[in-house]
Amino acid sequence: MSEASPARPRVWIAYTGGTLGMVPGADGYVPAPGLEARLRAAMPQLDAPGVPAFELHEYAELLDSANMSPADWNRIGADLAGRQAGYDGFVVVHGTDTMAYTASALSFMLEGLTKPVILTGSQIPLCAARSDARDNLLDALILAGSSAIPEVMIAFGGTLLRGNRTTKVQSEGLRAFASPNAGALAELGIDIRIHRERVRSPAGVPFRLRPYSSAEVAAVRLFPGITGDFLARLLAPPLAGLVLEAYGAGNGPARDPAILAALAAACARGVVVVVVTQCLEGRAELGVYAAGSALARAGCIGGADMTAEAALTKLAYLFAVGLDPAAVRAEIARDLRGELTAD
Ligand code: ASP
Repeated sequence: MSEASPARPRVWIAYTGGTLGMVPGADGYVPAPGLEARLRAAMPQLDAPGVPAFELHEYAELLDSANMSPADWNRIGADLAGRQAGYDGFVVVHGTDTMAYTASALSFMLEGLTKPVILTGSQIPLCAARSDARDNLLDALILAGSSAIPEVMIAFGGTLLRGNRTTKVQSEGLRAFASPNAGALAELGIDIRIHRERVRSPAGVPFRLRPYSSAEVAAVRLFPGITGDFLARLLAPPLAGLVLEAYGAGNGPARDPAILAALAAACARGVVVVVVTQCLEGRAELGVYAAGSALARAGCIGGADMTAEAALTKLAYLFAVGLDPAAVRAEIARDLRGELTAD
């Protein structure tokens, strides 16, 4: 007697907007509803063996991801959290512009995650002949249904990346995302090669949603000519935390006393200033150069090899869970979800 075939995996897809489902409008591409019917018409592969069954939930307001805010992260996070028990994995169809931010935010919000959550989208809409939507969506769907990787990830352009390590590196190319400081979790060529040794184990804590709050955080990229006045205005209350995208190994204009005074005054008030590097690869080490040590003396903390996206969403998360500034400072340098490489 033959054994019963294993049940087809089930994936829940959240369609939030983005180029994948856009159609031409009067002012350029705009998000359009009715994605499931269009996908089924354009992708007969969705019924092929090995492709999970899916349910697609279409958001009432479909967004270009440039319009997304933490309230949208909270809505997506709550929708995913409420369905954890019913599905093998999850796909979030999302615009590419802020996908790295949403992926980073979800990684912090979904504490104790045990199932794959995979964001994807496309650079060319499904309705266009050369669209990358089909490949990206199929990759995300198959990996969400079968990989059992308990992380928030981005599947795009033939690779699977840890979400909180990603950044958008191409505005036009089809390999739009990179994970410069952490190797890919899988490569999707003729075969799907999952790097199991890079996959994090489930945290072993009960699953729970940690939504974002209204705590104010910001990011600023240092530039030659930045002034102490500008920084002081930026750091004024009610700002709780700032990601300072500094030069190279975490350096800033340390010969300008007004800049150091603005940073020191804010840090003394409890503003948490996290320094990351503007470089695509590498880490902020505040003790390497005198120009970095001065930032540390002013009270700034090094963000190791976090992307600016991960640093910003982590800072906001730590305030949202109710930590005081001293505890936020301590947690920033700790690896919570694979977002940084500890020393
Ligand atoms: N502006 C679009 C968005 O982020 C770009 C894309 O999806 O590729 O929604």
